[in-house]
Parts: sequence; structure tokens; C-alpha cells
Amino acid sequence: LFGAGKMFLPQVVKSARVMKRAVAVLLPYMEAEKAARLAAGQEVKAQGKIVVATVKGDVHDIGKNIVGVVLACNNYEVIDMGVMVHCDKILEKAREVNADMIGLSGLITPSLEEMAHVAREMQRTGFTVPLLIGGATTSRAHTAVKIALNYKSPVVHVLDASRAVGVVSSLISDELRPAFVQNLAVEQESLREKHFGRQKERVQVSLSEARKRRTPILWKAEEVAKPEFTGVRVLEDYPLCELVPYIDWSPFFHTWELAGRYPAILEDEVVGEEAKRVFADAQELLAEIVKNKSFKASGVYGFFPANAVGDDIELFTDETRSEVLKKLHMLRQQVDKGGDTINYALSDFVAPKETGIPDYVGAFAVTSGHGMKELVKKYQAENDDYNAIMVEALADRLAEAFAERLHKIARDAWGYGRQEGLTNEDFIRERYRGIRPAPGYPACPDHTEKQTIWTLLEVEKNAGMLLTESFAMYPGSSVSGLYFSHPESRYFPVGKIEKDQVEEYAKRKGMTLEEAERWLAPNLNY
Ligand code: SAH
Repeated sequence: LFGAGKMFLPQVVKSARVMKRAVAVLLPYMEAEKAARLAAGQEVKAQGKIVVATVKGDVHDIGKNIVGVVLACNNYEVIDMGVMVHCDKILEKAREVNADMIGLSGLITPSLEEMAHVAREMQRTGFTVPLLIGGATTSRAHTAVKIALNYKSPVVHVLDASRAVGVVSSLISDELRPAFVQNLAVEQESLREKHFGRQKERVQVSLSEARKRRTPILWKAEEVAKPEFTGVRVLEDYPLCELVPYIDWSPFFHTWELAGRYPAILEDEVVGEEAKRVFADAQELLAEIVKNKSFKASGVYGFFPANAVGDDIELFTDETRSEVLKKLHMLRQQVDKGGDTINYALSDFVAPKETGIPDYVGAFAVTSGHGMKELVKKYQAENDDYNAIMVEALADRLAEAFAERLHKIARDAWGYGRQEGLTNEDFIRERYRGIRPAPGYPACPDHTEKQTIWTLLEVEKNAGMLLTESFAMYPGSSVSGLYFSHPESRYFPVGKIEKDQVEEYAKRKGMTLEEAERWLAPNLNY
């Protein structure tokens, strides 16, 4: 019913709760029955066994948890290995339990490479079971082009939980599998043709030409805002109740696979009723979380004297600007949009050193993830997956709300925020001066730049947040980024870049070309 669009995800997960609790009561009887059947030589089996894991270096697992619940509801045995799971461990477990399938999940772009690695290892070590791929940055095209070629058995991209049961049941069924696999092969071949064809068609410019097309800003000292302090400030145990008004609820509904924008979604003809129900449940749980202080919100931010030098941004130890504290490394668009259009880099929005104008850049890191896992575990122990997933969804919302709240504080510190007078809708659409681009997002796709933020702000010490080997933030429900104040500053995608830029970028970062290519893999046009 769910796959056919006749039932919605929150209903499915809630029914799982009823089922699990019933099963918990029946379990002793079922075990006895199973033992009796085994004794009589009859086989007892779930429909299929699936080992699922969030790959090495990645921490986000809400999507994986949802898929796990949905599959379990459909009588599949799901062995969930959790987050940050090394390839060897996943394969070892799959062998140990004789899994019928492996499912990999990941949120950030470095995980795409890790998934390709797991596929390669599965081929090398003789696996033949299907591999499922899911998570925010995964796609049909990436799966076809970068993962499927590494493994001779089916590698299937699963768009969301509503597709998971269809895919798994097709792959397990002796009847359905041949046609499914045949269609998959045809589809993936055509996706690859399209991909490589498009690569040839794309017109790009050299890095030096792209630099000539930088954002044309006439720098004037009086238009550059000076923050009221430089250095680092810590927000310890920030009141959750102050974050609630900054929550953007639309992505909450997307987590529950309900399409639409808040608040209109509550009145939607198709999903309105279900949206209202899940929203009411969220409000109730959120009120409890705020009252009980179940999450501890920690944050840190700072401002630094800064100037652009080429495509990098130098941050200085003090106002004399004689000593470089750290460098932020930026990438520039190389797509040819025509002669007098702009090829953006974030460094365009900071006064170049040669203007002599003192400019500033900010950085921040916030989390609402402290305490989250404990609450998730409590609900899981009560066989309440619905609330366990709800807790993760709310923690994510609060982290983003904290980023929005702190951006407001930062703009006020910069001065120009004081006269804003924004509505809730203005915040959600980010209708204000300045941006807060996040490393790993399209304007600065290199996740390793987070390390600079971590060093500058002493994020680990000040907010208890860590970076994994893939530069994912731990705990989950964390946000970090940079602040740019110039009125012209905007978000854009760096998009595909050429080897000339990657070679130079690697040098600027003190990396080998291979390392840079690994981190920038999704952006390479070669
Ligand atoms: N209100 C949303 C906010 C998250 S998405 C929510 O609650 O989920 C918007 C954020 O993503 C921006 O503030 C910025 O930090 C990041 N972002 C969006 N587009 C970006 C881009 N092209 N480059 C870098 N960061 C980007």
C-alpha cells in the first residue's frame, strides 16, 4: 500500500510500532513454535535478510532507519549495523548471517567514494548478492556511472523508503528478479551513455579565463561592514525554546516523505490529513524535548580580519593584517556561460588584499545532537520506532534553526542586521544581507575545509563536535559554515571543474593531486 501511494510513511512506521509491540508479547510463543518446527525438520525463515549500514566516515542515519523499519514491517530481517561502519565489518557481517542483500547509506559526498569502494571489495571477495544504495547525495546516475561498474551483480539506487520494499521484493523473488535485473542493466547503460555524452558536450573555460569573469565588485571601504568584535564566542547550552520559532518545517515533512511546503501542506488535498497528524505528534514531542532539555544545544562562532588573495581568503591574526592565521581555499566555476557572465567563487565576496580595504569573514558551528542518541535509544528500547525517528527529525530541525538563529546574532554583531525587521518567512527564505555557505555544499564542495573552521573556532573544545575521517560532523544534527557579509554575496554551485584548477588547488592546499581528486570527485569534469 505504501509503495502504491495509498499509505503514507508515518502510518507505516506507526503500524510498525503496533506490530513490534505485539511481536514482543508473542515472541516467547513464536520462539517455542520455531523451535518445535526446527525440531520437526521444517525451515523457518524471514522473507530475506538484509544487512544495512551507514558507511565509514558518515554519521547520518535517519533515512536508513526509516528504510529498516519499512522493510522489517514487510517481514524482512534487517540487520542494522549503525553508522560509521567500515567496509570489512559490513562484508564480514553479511557473510556471517548469509545476507541476501547489502544496503549502504550515506549523507555526504565522500561517502559516494566509499560506496564505490565497498562495491569493488564485494567483487574482489566473491560476493554475488545485490547491493542497494541510498542517501541524500546518492543518485541513479551516480550509482550507474561510479558504483555499478565495480560489481558484477545488481547495484540498485533506492530513491526513498517507499521504493525499498518494491526493489527488495523484486530482487528476492525468483520470478521477478530476471526482468528486474534486465531492466536495471538497460537503464544503467543508458544513464552511462547520457553521462559520458554530456561530459563531451559541456563547454568549460580555463581557470585563468574563469578568473577574468569573476564577480565585478567595485570595492568601497564604507560599504564593508565591520563586526563589533573579532575572535571566538561560545554559546553554551543555548535555550532550545529560543530556537523553536526559527524552525523551517518544510524539510520535516520531506523526511516523512510528504511532499509540499509548510504551512500549505497541512491543507493539502492528498497528504494534508497525514501531515496534520505527524505535525501534531512532532509538536507534542518537541514540547517535551524543550521542557526536559533532552538535547543540549552547543555553538561557537567568530569573526576574523580577512582579505581575498586570488581564489583563497586569508584570515589574519589581528587588525595589523601582517600575519596569516589560516587560509580558506575556494573553487571557481568553470562552466562557460558566455562572455560577460560571471564565474563565481566565494572569495569574490571578500575585499581583495590589493584594495587595502579591511574586510572580515565569520565562521560558525552548531549542534543540537548532544543527548539525541540517548533519547533515540530510549524509544528504540520501547519498540517505538515512530518516536525514535521523530527525535532524529526534530534534532535536525533544531540544528538548522540554531544555524538560522546564530546567523541573526552574527548579522546583528555585524551591525546591518539590526534594522532588518524580518518575518518568519523571510528567515526561511534567507531574505537578508549575507550568506552562510557550508563546506560540502555546492558553493564550497570540499568537505576538508571544515577542518579550518574546527581549528579556528576550536570547535571540539568549545562545542563538543568532532569531524570524522570523511569530514562528517559528529554528533549528527550539526551545521557549520562561513559567514560572508557583502550584499552581493550569494549561493551558487561550483559545478564541474577542470584539471588545471584541481592541480592548482591541490598545491594551494598542500595536498597531492590524487588527494584533491578524491575529495573533489563529484566535481571533476574528467
Ligand atoms: N531552512 C533550511 C536551511 C538549510 S538549507 C532548513 O532548515 O533545512 C540552506 C543552507 O544550506 C544555507 O544556509 C547554506 O548554509 C547551505 N547552502 C545552500 N546552498 C548552498 C550552496 N550553494 N553553497 C553552500 N552552502 C549552501
